[in-house]
Amino acid sequence: MTVRVRLAPSPTGNLHIGTARTAVFNWLYARHHNGTFILRIEDTDRDRSLPRHTRNILAGLAWLGLDWDEGPIYQSRRIERYQAVVEQLLDQGLAYRCYVSEAELEEMRIAQKAAGKAPRYDNRHRFLTEAQRQAYEAEGRQPVIRFKIEEPQEISWVDLIRGQITWNTQDLGGDMVIARADGYPLYNLAVVVDDIDMGITHVIRGEDHIANTPKQILLYRALGYEPPQFAHSPLILNPEGKKLSKRDGATSVAEFQQMGFLPEALKNYLALLSWSPPDGEEIFSLEKAATLFDFERVTRSAARFDWDKLNWLNSQYIKQLSPAELVERLTPFWQAAGFDLTTVPDAAWLEDLARLIADGIDRLTEASSLSRFLLQDPISYTLPALEQLRLPGVAEAMRAMATTLAQADLPEISVQSLKPLVDQVAKAQGMKKGLLMKSLRAALTGDVQGPDLMESFVLLQRRGWALPRLEAVQRLLA
Ligand code: GLU
Repeated sequence: MTVRVRLAPSPTGNLHIGTARTAVFNWLYARHHNGTFILRIEDTDRDRSLPRHTRNILAGLAWLGLDWDEGPIYQSRRIERYQAVVEQLLDQGLAYRCYVSEAELEEMRIAQKAAGKAPRYDNRHRFLTEAQRQAYEAEGRQPVIRFKIEEPQEISWVDLIRGQITWNTQDLGGDMVIARADGYPLYNLAVVVDDIDMGITHVIRGEDHIANTPKQILLYRALGYEPPQFAHSPLILNPEGKKLSKRDGATSVAEFQQMGFLPEALKNYLALLSWSPPDGEEIFSLEKAATLFDFERVTRSAARFDWDKLNWLNSQYIKQLSPAELVERLTPFWQAAGFDLTTVPDAAWLEDLARLIADGIDRLTEASSLSRFLLQDPISYTLPALEQLRLPGVAEAMRAMATTLAQADLPEISVQSLKPLVDQVAKAQGMKKGLLMKSLRAALTGDVQGPDLMESFVLLQRRGWALPRLEAVQRLLA
């Protein structure tokens, strides 16, 4: 059997992190079995589905590198197919027209509530006579189509993640609507028709769909097909154990991208959220994970989102990038911060800058503040930096450093060639090396902390910005 799986997002919002994790599991399973990963856009909700959300979903999956083999297939282009199936179910007597109005449904719910019962449709139009039907039609009522659910009946399946799950049809809320009054199909019907037509062998999706599964199994049976295998993955909760929401900082993949996470780190993290490889490794590519993936090692309990872990993973991936790759990843963030990259000395200089800051960042966004003094001139000074520069002897030391640097006329500036000059100034000024270094940092970067000072100094000198900054200290303190 060839494995065929699908991701079926509804474009009613941007690509959610939970959907991305479902995508990761589908992708891993498909690749592990040399199967086919299909993308289906479930856009039958005409009011809430928006093209910009579809674009966001496609872009997010592409950014994550979760390539699909077939699709995207749009449900909105298959309406006639679903309608034909609805007709077939009507013809077979497995579905019927229900004319109950919204107001009548509401009345029913109120009465059920008063009687202490769970709300459900009481199947009252299942047995309408032809005359009754015609009377409703004459009233101008538009019927929905309901699929008959026989009760009581146990529906079971062996979930690949959760084991045996059993539902009683009494708990499904009565005969279910499969098409709206305007003829538009509803989710459960469209999903089943598509999964049959696309030959889906494994439905891998979030646990929030478990309650739909018995309904879908009934539809498979009615249509004469064996249901596929189901694997319902645990939800992703916030650190407090609640549903991940906007308040947690980010819920869509695009937001994680804007926050400076690398796609390979985010994918790795999403895989790790409910699964771990047998070797216990935490850092792995999805290609590697695909060779090892199975549902046995997927946990059943909900996964809690751990920002520290994701930040850590991201920092590990950042460190692994080559300087050229890092420049490529950082460029959009530098540009967004307003830095003019066309005026830097050369590509090598930018790579050296990227290398300099790589160790100090967890996310790409942090690069902007760390590299500002190297990418923008003039600088502003923090209060502690000004205090540092106002200490006795510091102005003189900065002047001496400027003179020494100008006179040295180094053929090539490097940390090695710069160090003796700094030592020389410390000695000549009778200043402790530590104090001199702190002061240099304040003068050159405008702050009292930042990336490696000597490396920064070299980069500034290569840009022609070191001397003017040392000189600016005199004016600043005047
Ligand atoms: N369209 C559904 C959703 O976005 C997924 C349906 C499914 O995977 O069966 O939640």
